[in-house]
Amino acid sequence: MAEKMDYYEILGVSRNATQEEIKKAYRRLARKYHPDLNPNNKEAEEKFKQISEAYQVLSDPEKRKLYDQFGHAAFTGAGAGTGRESGFEGFGGFGMNIDDILEDLFNFSDFFGGGRRRTYQEKKRTYRSERGEDIYQTVTISLEDAYKGTTLTIEVPRYVICEKCAGTGQKPGSQPTVCPECGGTGQITYSSGFMHISQTCPRCKGTGYIQEPCDQCNGRGLVMKTETVKVRIPAGVDNGTKLRVPGKGHSGRFGGPPGDLWIIVNVQPHWLYERKGDNLYVKVNINVAEAITGTEIEIPTIDGKTEKVKIPEGTQGGQQIRIHGKGMPRLKSSGYGDLVVVVNVVIPSKKELSKKAKKLVEELSKELPKPTTRFEKP
Ligand SMILES: [Zn+2]
Ligand SMILES: [Zn+2]
Repeated sequence: MAEKMDYYEILGVSRNATQEEIKKAYRRLARKYHPDLNPNNKEAEEKFKQISEAYQVLSDPEKRKLYDQFGHAAFTGAGAGTGRESGFEGFGGFGMNIDDILEDLFNFSDFFGGGRRRTYQEKKRTYRSERGEDIYQTVTISLEDAYKGTTLTIEVPRYVICEKCAGTGQKPGSQPTVCPECGGTGQITYSSGFMHISQTCPRCKGTGYIQEPCDQCNGRGLVMKTETVKVRIPAGVDNGTKLRVPGKGHSGRFGGPPGDLWIIVNVQPHWLYERKGDNLYVKVNINVAEAITGTEIEIPTIDGKTEKVKIPEGTQGGQQIRIHGKGMPRLKSSGYGDLVVVVNVVIPSKKELSKKAKKLVEELSKELPKPTTRFEKP
């Protein structure tokens, strides 16, 4: 390990610096090197560790005295109390996080000049991170695709973090200035007769300062961008099924998480099948003779194949025949619904019949038994 730098040198102060000078030096350096302000910068991180460690010792008169007397040896080995070298561990060890740093900055910097000093907590409201909003997008698919499941590539216009200002909304290189309207208070007070009326400053919208907006995003921190998103549509979706694609909604502001993308499925009506839940219905037309004698019919199924169905003799119009497992896949469980064949007996008109058929029907009419029960409640 390299030899430790002198704490006074790290803070850039003389050995007889006052507590106030040490504090000032620390703030100046912390502001420059805080890791949250220098993401992915190892050097700044190391520097910040050193600064914090030095300040931890020099800001405490007792520790400073020990350090002046014994140097780094005062805080190493068995006497250190924590056992760890200098007892400093990461950024948390000093109890200093970005909030503290910024609070410190806002409270002590001359940022707000002569105006009311605003605490960081007040300030923070301005910068409060916001979760991005959800996006709802409708997709229309065929019943066949709903049966098989499909993958769609869709274009989603979404707000993403502005690259130019890194989402701050502030023109790069510019500094926020105190709002001239309210002097940084965020409130405007005016008198009307005996009344004093306070209202949120319209110029700065209560934030107390004015920043030069980033010209890319107009200060919003987000820009609209159309992105291509691949969405897996599972087999069995129905009209109105909502699918969530996490994190593909609008980006959040000021470090907030993104919203979700919701895909709302619209299944087109099919030319042949009627869908009720997981079941499909198909009407099959047969003639009177087929109804009497029974028949076998190949029914087209949604998977593009056919299924042979026996229509038993004496089938009545409206009768239903179920083909198990030939309906839609169940979205929330396993297996499939049924294909329900609804029999429709078609009665040909006399005009459609050949001479021979007409004759046969007339003969049949004499032979056929009349219904045993003529009248029934429908
Ligand atoms: Zn921007
Ligand atoms: Zn204002």
